[in-house]
Parts: sequence; C-alpha cells; structure tokens
Amino acid sequence: MTTVAAYAAPAAKAPLERTTIERRAVREHDVLIDIKFAGICHSDIHQVREGWGEAIFPMVPGHEIAGVVSEVGPGVTRFKVGDRVGVGCMVDSCRECEMCRAGKEQYCLNGQTPTYNGIGRDGEPTYGGYSEKVVVDENFVVRIPDGIALDVAAPLLCAGITLYSPLKRFGAGPGRKVAVVGMGGLGHMGVKIAHAMGAEVTVLSQSLRKKDDGLRLGADHYYATSDPKTFEELRGSFDLIVSTVSAPLDFAAYLSLLKPEGTLANVGAPEDPISLNLFSLIGGGRSLAGSMIGGIAETQETLDFCAEHGIGAEIELIAASEINEAYERVENSDVRYRFVIDTATI
Ligand SMILES: [Zn+2]
Ligand SMILES: [Zn+2]
Repeated sequence: MTTVAAYAAPAAKAPLERTTIERRAVREHDVLIDIKFAGICHSDIHQVREGWGEAIFPMVPGHEIAGVVSEVGPGVTRFKVGDRVGVGCMVDSCRECEMCRAGKEQYCLNGQTPTYNGIGRDGEPTYGGYSEKVVVDENFVVRIPDGIALDVAAPLLCAGITLYSPLKRFGAGPGRKVAVVGMGGLGHMGVKIAHAMGAEVTVLSQSLRKKDDGLRLGADHYYATSDPKTFEELRGSFDLIVSTVSAPLDFAAYLSLLKPEGTLANVGAPEDPISLNLFSLIGGGRSLAGSMIGGIAETQETLDFCAEHGIGAEIELIAASEINEAYERVENSDVRYRFVIDTATI
C-alpha cells in the first residue's frame, strides 16, 4: 500500500478537503499512474451531493484522469514506465458477459466498477483522480497520444467519449446535419468532435451568450432555444440531435426538429421522468435514444481521433485549493468549458 495525498469530501454535501488515502500495491496486471491532471465533471458534484442516491464517503471524485506510468506489474504488456496514459469513468468490469466481450464494458451486465464512489471487485472502495497517484488494471487504462497535452486530454476521458460514442453510433459525418443541445463541458466537446467528423453542426443553447465560442470551436450555426422562432425555423432539420442537458426539456419540441427517421440521443439525464406523446416518435419514425460514456477500446479511439484532429478540451486550469469554488461555478454554468485540477497542487 502507498499513502498518497488527495482531495476528498468527508461526508455528503461537505466541502472537499485535503487528506490522504491508501492506494493498493501494484498487482500483476496493474499500472501505477502519477496523476498530472484531473478534470471536474458535473457528475462529480452530483455524487458528492448525493444527487443520484446514497454514496460512499469519504469520496475522492475524479474520472477524467491524465498522467504518466511510474510502475508496472510483472504481467503488464500494454504499458511501460514513462507512458502517457488516461483513466476514465470505470476501472474494472466482469470481463465475461456479452457486453464486456463486445467491448462495451460501460454496460457490463454484472456492473462495471466506477473509478470512484464504487466498490472494487476486491471489496475495497474506489477513489478517483483528485489525488497524486492511482493504481489501475492495465485493461482499463488508455494511451494518450503525444499530439495532445495532458491537461486538455483529461476531459476527453469522460466528456470526450460521452459525445464521441453517440456521434459515431448515429452516423455524424459528411452530409449529415447534427445539433448539439447545450454548450457546456459536454456540449463543447460535441461541437468539436462532430465538426471533425465532417457533419454540419448546429448548437442549440438557451441563449446566444456563447455563440462566438461555438462558431470558433466548429459550429456552423448557433440558435437560442429561448426564442420560440428557433423551433419553427428548424422544424425537420436534423439527422441527429445529441442532448447534453440535465434540465427538463420539452422532448416533443426537440423531436420535431428531426428529419424523418432521425434520432434524439441523450447523454444528459433530467432527474424527473418525462411524459411524451409517442406520436412525436411514430409520425416520422423517429428514435429517442440514450448513451453512456463508451467502452475502453472506443475511449482509446476517441483519444486517437482527437489527437489526429488536434482536438483537446477548452479548459480552466485550477489549483486543488480552488475545487470547492469551481464546484459552485460549475453549478452556475460559469466555466469555459471544463475545470482541470493541476494535481501537483494537491
Ligand atoms: Zn463525467
Ligand atoms: Zn461484464
């Protein structure tokens, strides 16, 4: 075991504070990673505040981890000391079920092991990236290509793959019209990735406040959803809409923006159930879909794609002492577009 410094929430809704945690000794297939940067994902805040139900405390959040390998177990074949690597939202899965065998570990039928706020298959609690080091099985570690700096790569491990996966699955590409709903940590990655895939990209945001950024990051069009004329003008326009928002949406209104046989894919989850007249799907043969992060192979593919296209996240780099303030700002949508913690400051 190694004692490492970390930032943890000692109890639900409590501010994060500096502490120490134990990391397991490196096992046969483990790599020890010196964490350099950790992104702050909105889901970190949800879990610290128990917005998604009972959680495990103390909690060290962080599932957008970028660092460098500093030790490898004797059975490790994919990594060596000095490699630049990342860890995303999961650190293990059953590896045997239909989903795991298909490389879709995020949907493991026996439950994937989350990077933090989870219990590992060894019975020990998992702790995330707001810390100096982490030990992870090599099969749940991805390579960060040399073309991307580690700080802007960190958010690709959750925000990046979360958008890449549905954009690819539902065919974003040349000749296809794609809308991204919400221009935050997730949405701005959607704009960059959909643009790089060759799609014609529209941002649907509450206001035009971030329009200049949206166009600069690759959007072709930018509309305010607070303006009712937007929904009239864009009726039947899109092959694919990816919604990143967790605020309640008028789903029927958004479905009306799809072409026949178009898809509205959700990666954000409103807390309350929705009520929907299914004629908004039936008329036009439209689909309402969901998507959660991506498998390990697809996460590697995301990083390779982003490196090839020169894509990183837009970030605000902060010291660990600023985490609590950053949480407040994320809740007020006051970040452009992802906070990343410089873990050297822990
Ligand atoms: Zn996340
Ligand atoms: Zn499985």
